[in-house]
Amino acid sequence: MTRLLGVIGDPVAHSLSPYIHNHWLRENGIDAVYAALEVKADELSASLASLRAHEAIGLNVTLPHKESVLRLAPTASDTARRLGAANTLVRTPGGQWHAENTDAPGFALTLDYGDINVDAREVFLLGAGGSARAVADVLARRGARLTLCNRTIARAESLALDLAPAARILSLQEGLAQLARASVVINTLSLGHTGAALELPESAGGIFYDISYGKGAAVALAEARRKGWRALDGLGMLVAQASLSFELWFGAAPDLAAAHARARSLLEAAQ
Ligand code: NDP
Repeated sequence: MTRLLGVIGDPVAHSLSPYIHNHWLRENGIDAVYAALEVKADELSASLASLRAHEAIGLNVTLPHKESVLRLAPTASDTARRLGAANTLVRTPGGQWHAENTDAPGFALTLDYGDINVDAREVFLLGAGGSARAVADVLARRGARLTLCNRTIARAESLALDLAPAARILSLQEGLAQLARASVVINTLSLGHTGAALELPESAGGIFYDISYGKGAAVALAEARRKGWRALDGLGMLVAQASLSFELWFGAAPDLAAAHARARSLLEAAQ
């Protein structure tokens, strides 16, 4: 019987995850298919029950469900509990959902692959949403001198309280005005999806890492390159978190470099 996996979210049609995972399923000779499944917020509980009844092996979880699935899954990893969010569900031998978070270790892997050392360096994190929590957790644990910048200050304060108590907190406007002092900027704002621009200061080779990719990151990355920053997008993080999910479901770690190159070609062909 062909088994099911998928990503649940709303919207979800744009997701590259089916392309990434179906390639790995074929490569490993696994009789399963990975689909993008649109699930509205009020359908989440019923959808999880139905996918469980259909013996789905595992799920990725994206906006707006990352926090809610944690409340619905009977068990969760320590990382998912600490972050208050899960992006992966694994079917247990007893047929229940177990919640995991591979966004944080996926982001950590990309720092290693990109040779980005944040220890004792000035790091500005733009945004305080769900993904910023995973990013902040990694940055704080790696000894970054962290400044959190967000439009809604209360959200940045709550993130700091939970995960990065030593972080400095600024409004987004104040943060952008002080950005020249950063060695590394991590942009987790979803603003890029609207095509809106960020005005960045000049930099002599500082790192500007936007965790979005494709059209969602295009405007900010072009501005960063114009101003002398070393600009990176979030495709590496997407592939890394996907490979960690695949490993949780099947125990096999896919070839990250090859998957990254394939996803890059696909993204470039789509632009
Ligand atoms: P959230 O909705 O949880 O957070 C969005 C953030 O953007 C908040 O900080 C919000 O500020 C800010 N923001 C949104 N609109 C504006 C605006 N008009 N002006 C200023 N700030 C704004 O989203 P996520 O954290 O889950 O995702 C953020 C981005 O990261 C998305 O683009 C997503 O695609 C990408 N992502 C990439 C991943 C990867 O693997 N590469 C994984 C996960 C996410 P406020 O708090 O004030 O509302």
